[in-house]
Amino acid sequence: MEANKPTTMMCTVVGVDHTCFSYRACSVCERTLPDDPSSLCRFCNLTAFPRTKRFFRILMSIASDTNVFTVICFDRVAKVLFGCSADEFFDFAKFHPFAAANASRILEGEMFKMTISKPKNGNAQHLRAVQVTPLRTGFQPAIVTLRELYGVRSS
Ligand SMILES: [Zn+2]
Repeated sequence: MEANKPTTMMCTVVGVDHTCFSYRACSVCERTLPDDPSSLCRFCNLTAFPRTKRFFRILMSIASDTNVFTVICFDRVAKVLFGCSADEFFDFAKFHPFAAANASRILEGEMFKMTISKPKNGNAQHLRAVQVTPLRTGFQPAIVTLRELYGVRSS
């Protein structure tokens, strides 16, 4: 992989870390907040709802034809995989046990055209997936398959 240049490749998802899919953040400045629902942003001092929202941050292993990488998918890219917002997924997972583990299983083996870039921030340790395009004709986002699996009608 060339240094500091985004690379586009065909790859297969080989594993998804489902222990933590998303994080809470201030809905205005998007600063990360602790998972405790009562904690609010110290900087924005908001009184109106919604004060916080969740953003996806998903760690996954992908295999290209020559290599295996660990990449991190942030909100915009993760929405392509999941087909919903991080808040929607979080709420779904609250009422549907093993939803996160099942979502990982659903995504494993799927093939994507992925654009990967090195983190701009020198402290960030993972490559980032900056663009993903599903390659399989019948691809459906994880939430669609999950709703079928759990017998939930989408609203
Ligand atoms: Zn804020």
